[in-house]
Amino acid sequence: MQCCATCHGTARSKWMMRFATGVWPVVLFTAFAITGLARAESTDNAPPAISIIIDDMGKLIQAGRRVIALPGPVACAFLPKERYTGELANAAFQSGKEVLLHLPMDSVDGRRLDHGAVTLDMTERQFIARVQDNLASVPHVTGVNNHMGSLLTRHPGHMLWLMREMRQQQMPLIFVDSRTTVATVARRVAEENDVPSTDRNVFLDNEPDDERIAYQFRRLLKLARSQGTALAIGHPYPQTLAFLERELPQLKQQGVQLLPVRALIEQQQESERTWQASLSPSHKAAKSSKPQL
Ligand SMILES: [Zn+2]
Repeated sequence: MQCCATCHGTARSKWMMRFATGVWPVVLFTAFAITGLARAESTDNAPPAISIIIDDMGKLIQAGRRVIALPGPVACAFLPKERYTGELANAAFQSGKEVLLHLPMDSVDGRRLDHGAVTLDMTERQFIARVQDNLASVPHVTGVNNHMGSLLTRHPGHMLWLMREMRQQQMPLIFVDSRTTVATVARRVAEENDVPSTDRNVFLDNEPDDERIAYQFRRLLKLARSQGTALAIGHPYPQTLAFLERELPQLKQQGVQLLPVRALIEQQQESERTWQASLSPSHKAAKSSKPQL
């Protein structure tokens, strides 16, 4: 019996091995090929696209003006309640730049919080009042991204309060998860609450020297070429601004499009719809009922 069982077991495992080496690679390859084709198809019509957000704006007037003067639709993310936030947000809007609220949030390392921060110890009422107050303090605001937040963005309850409040606004706001922690749930909660959203892929200037910024920018373009779209966050440092002043005018020649964040999200949603539709026609019908931007 022992022998038979062993032999039977061996025969079965041999068969499974053959199945694994014979059929699954074909299945997986086919699925991969379909996925790849659909992805390629969805981005065929549009060139690779990037968005760039410069955040931490509102504290410095000269650097802020220099950001606003950057060529193309670079998004400007303003800390609430800072000295130049109102003036610069108005100027950014006049120059056709997208205006975001850069919402300060609790971080795990207990760093000093900026004005208008939302924190873990707030009640729902306090939290919502603070978010409303911050949104009202940034003229022409059309979206939110988090400043710090490595603690708060991992808390689904607080993120739910934020996304629900964003949904309440007259203007449909977008959300960008700055991804200051890999444990963030902010993007998932945004999606669950139908807040149009995306993730930061690259920080341009965590090391603000020319060589490192250039390296991160190349990473950004590479990602956009491989996945269709990519988003970077930078800061109003002189090195970052000098780099962007020099490089942004060259983008078109490199076949890459600079988009406002809202347009980038639309392109990502469109690509996702095409992909889903290519996998299952019935999925297409379900997706088409999802609210659009
Ligand atoms: Zn920030």
